[in-house]
Amino acid sequence: VSGSGEQLEVDDRRLSDVLDTLDHAVVLVDADLRVLSSNDAAVRELGAGPQMVADDVLASAGWRVVRDDGTPWPPGDRPIQRAVLAGETTSRLLMGLVRGGETRWMRVSARPLHRDADRPALAVATFVDVTGREAAEQALRESEAHFRLLAENSTDVIQRHDAEGTVLYSSPSVVDVLGWTPAELVGSPSFRDWHPDDVPTGRRALEQLARTGQPQTLRYRMRHREGGWVWLETTARAVPYASGGVREIQTSTRDVTARVETEQRLARLALADPLTGLANRAALTQRLEDLLEEHRNVALLFLDLDRFKIVNDSLGHSAGDELLRVVAGRLVGACRDADVVARIGGDEFVIVAPGLEEAGAIVLAGRVQALLSAPVALGGHEIVVSASVGIVASCDGPGDAEALLRDADVSMYRAKARGRARAVVWTKEIGEVATERLSVEAELREALAGAGIEVHYQPQVELATGRISGVEALVRWQHPARGLLLPGAFLGVADDTGLVVDLGRRVLTTAARQVAAWRRLPGYDGLSLSVNLSEQELLRPGRPAEVLRVLSEAGLPREALTLEVLESVLLDPEGTVSAALAEHADRGLRLALDDFGTGSSTLLHLRSVPVAAVKVDRAFVAGLGVSRRDEAIVRAVRQLTADLGLACVAEGVEQERQRDWLTAEGVCFAQGFLLHRPLPAGDVTVLLGGPDTSGE
Ligand code: C2E
Ligand code: MG
Ligand code: MG
Repeated sequence: VSGSGEQLEVDDRRLSDVLDTLDHAVVLVDADLRVLSSNDAAVRELGAGPQMVADDVLASAGWRVVRDDGTPWPPGDRPIQRAVLAGETTSRLLMGLVRGGETRWMRVSARPLHRDADRPALAVATFVDVTGREAAEQALRESEAHFRLLAENSTDVIQRHDAEGTVLYSSPSVVDVLGWTPAELVGSPSFRDWHPDDVPTGRRALEQLARTGQPQTLRYRMRHREGGWVWLETTARAVPYASGGVREIQTSTRDVTARVETEQRLARLALADPLTGLANRAALTQRLEDLLEEHRNVALLFLDLDRFKIVNDSLGHSAGDELLRVVAGRLVGACRDADVVARIGGDEFVIVAPGLEEAGAIVLAGRVQALLSAPVALGGHEIVVSASVGIVASCDGPGDAEALLRDADVSMYRAKARGRARAVVWTKEIGEVATERLSVEAELREALAGAGIEVHYQPQVELATGRISGVEALVRWQHPARGLLLPGAFLGVADDTGLVVDLGRRVLTTAARQVAAWRRLPGYDGLSLSVNLSEQELLRPGRPAEVLRVLSEAGLPREALTLEVLESVLLDPEGTVSAALAEHADRGLRLALDDFGTGSSTLLHLRSVPVAAVKVDRAFVAGLGVSRRDEAIVRAVRQLTADLGLACVAEGVEQERQRDWLTAEGVCFAQGFLLHRPLPAGDVTVLLGGPDTSGE
């Protein structure tokens, strides 16, 4: 017995050595609630030494024992007592030890150790100090309660998410904002209902949150349960783990749709044209869209000032700006309050008139023209402005703003083509022509880059002798599908697109070489060449020098060339055209006025323009021999040109009576189908008695 008793003692000592190494307090009590043994931690942490009465272990160390809710814990009910007296095992009960101002929280486990069947001889209890951990959990519980209190009562949507953004909790107000209940949202994948364009912003915010821990505020759109986008503004903050990394994300979100829309609207409307104070293109488009959305009829007037570029180039930009301001004021004066006047490009204005139909729009265009026609004093000059106007009404046009603008624009171009200072109402045909023009432009570019552009020559005849004195170069386009095209079919497009300059260069180069060659034929060493010059070419800086270079490369003397300029080009209040004409004349280039009598410059201008020849328009030639009026006019022109020392050429001679009249009246030169049609170069060569090379 003693041997086994000794053995037991050794075991006990060894056990207590082991227990002393533990951080947790371990206490062993006997059936009389006396402390048999306690480890170092128990003595240190609890003051529980051997031979104390368990009932008093804690009390004698000065501790007041409370439950986790803070109420006193009666001794008979505590884990050790229950283990010894009732043989119960308890596990990890939270026990508060209060002493002075200090509270220690312990997880206490106790179990009976049976020596014989019915009565426990011993009980062992362990105390694990969880004070720090418990405080953290308590704080979290409190903050969660706090959070919920705020969340449930806020109009903002308060949510908790995991680190990936999946919703863990949502406050009920989310129903009002997005139509979903919190239960429907919890667990739904992040970004599920986000506008695709905004998802990158969301991901970036998540990534920033994880990286910097700084709260993030972002704006984005989410789909409402019933459809449509809702603008949201969210502030997100990360709740980190103590060890770092995102434990969860708390967000507060509000619906800012109304605010965003107002802001966007203001931003657009605030973008007025700084020069004139009129609406700009964005504001105009916005207004137009709004009106169309309200299903209101609107009329659109697209105005482009005629010859504005000339004013700008000749009088300078500040004069140009001033003119635009004056025009803006006059346009506003012509409109009603409900109308929007916008400047959408250099000299392009648009009027949007709600409730106006085509007839009303035409009246408005007339009012605009009338107001514009008053002279404007600019830097010592009096300028008369006019505008070409395109009109489209929403009821017969397309339904969207952009298309309406385009159609009005196209109609404006038509107005310009018909001779400026007029209004043209959009028709389906105009729309088709515009589309057609686009393809013509593309094809013309191609033709200019490769083959297809040709020159035909119409001989000019000296009436007294019947001899061919010169040729007029006339451009032709050998179109792959449409055959040979006359200038009327493509000059308009060429002019609008600036291609007319390349076209003119091609014609001049080709014709100069050709005529230089014909002048080597016997009897034609004095053959002259007439080439038509567009207004754009005429006004191009450095043009005379370029012409002279082409001539010298072709070996044609400058006296052999006449540049034909349309009389209508002389309508030149600013003097730019006059200056260009003078520059050509100064360089020894001979000029002729083409289609004389059709422009508005009249005979009086002849004196001041440095031209060497006048080509009487075929409208007057038509009546020769039958119309006294036409005869009187042509006779007057012939007389005037003779007095001024200019050559006179009659155009469009188709009949004997015309030729006879011209010959009898002493008009020197004539051109016309009766004499010769415009011909390919090879045919003219034959006509001039040169070798027939057409068969080669
Ligand atoms: P334009 O300079 O007045 O040329 C005379 C036009 O009258 C030519 O038309 C010619 O074919 C036509 N014509 C000649 N005789 C008669 C006749 O007896 N009766 C009738 N009814 N017509 C006659 P086309 O070739 O169609 O050229 C039309 C206009 O295109 C030209 O009028 C000219 O202003 C312009 N043009 C022609 N080639 C060029 C060019 O290379 N450059 C430029 N910028 N314009 C050109
Ligand atoms: Mg001509
Ligand atoms: Mg002509």
